Amino acid sequence: MEENKLSQATNTGLNKTYEALLKERSQVKEKDLKYFQKRARELGATKVFSINPREDIIFQERVRVACANNCFHYGVKLSCPPYIPDLDYEKAIKEYREGLIVLVNREIKDFKDFERKRTESTNTIHGILLKLEGEAFNRGYYLTTSFIGGSCKLCLECDETCKYPKSSRIPVEATGINIIKTLEKFDIYLRFPVEKHKKFSRVGLLLPGK
Ligand code: SF4
Repeated sequence: MEENKLSQATNTGLNKTYEALLKERSQVKEKDLKYFQKRARELGATKVFSINPREDIIFQERVRVACANNCFHYGVKLSCPPYIPDLDYEKAIKEYREGLIVLVNREIKDFKDFERKRTESTNTIHGILLKLEGEAFNRGYYLTTSFIGGSCKLCLECDETCKYPKSSRIPVEATGINIIKTLEKFDIYLRFPVEKHKKFSRVGLLLPGK
């Protein structure tokens, strides 16, 4: 009985320490968040805004199922499942106290136009996020990371091993984030199929932190 109480108290103590550490280490200064938003726009983002990853991001297992069943990059791109590290992405992402959602919007005339803009838009958001990661690191946020919108398109095709392992990034959807539902919390509605609505968005996530 006494042992149980001690173990409960110890667990609570450990949890508190973990929570306190997260709070202390991952806080991003308001002025830095504003700077990252300004830089994202300068680098080509259509829209950028800050979120609280713990409260705002919606994770769903069904997104991972759809990723495996519906996306033709699954098992093809080396930065897509099943090749990505086997981590608890929800836990890792929720350790960050601040995040920035970055959107790159494109209008399209038809499916052919969409095909042309797929690569350009992914590489644009990828470039913005890598640049922001670097700037965040230089401001002391040494555990900053990001997830891109769409599969990595730094190369025309993946090789047996990744050609740019330090630059390739995992798509947000591959982590189980339902980005469509997450955006709806901020009154942003993505419509499908994109050919019918003549526009589409690439959505990325920057997680600055220590
Ligand atoms: S960097 Fe190139 S090889 Fe690596 S995941 Fe991206 S497209 Fe594939």
